[in-house]
Amino acid sequence: MGDTLFGKIIRRDIPADIVYEDDDVLAFRDINPQAPVHVLFIPKKAFATLNDVSADDAIVFGKLFLAASTWAKAQGFADNGYRCVMNCNKDGGQTVYHIHLHLLAGRQMHWPPG
Ligand code: AMP
Repeated sequence: MGDTLFGKIIRRDIPADIVYEDDDVLAFRDINPQAPVHVLFIPKKAFATLNDVSADDAIVFGKLFLAASTWAKAQGFADNGYRCVMNCNKDGGQTVYHIHLHLLAGRQMHWPPG
């Protein structure tokens, strides 16, 4: 896949408010937050969409969710709750084609989402 905005953030070519990093995952605050806490967890390995992930990538994907829950616990809002969302392609509302897990917290979430 081609380079994306998030690839540039991984390489530190453009700035981001990074809150978490390990060998496989980077997390930074969304530039247009939709909740008091809105952080994007991304795999350092680039996949355009969820449709591009294969069984070989299951460990990286497990790590993505574990990084989000570990960070939520460390921040102290895990027990109150939060929402993790991954948008896929046009109808899913995806705008950046490097997979990212939105973590939203700090307010009551609603269902169904818009
Ligand atoms: P999605 O619509 O699911 O693809 O989400 C893309 C998200 O990336 C949106 O919530 C944007 O606000 C966010 N975003 C776009 N550019 C940046 C940036 N430079 N730094 C942080 N978040 C960004």
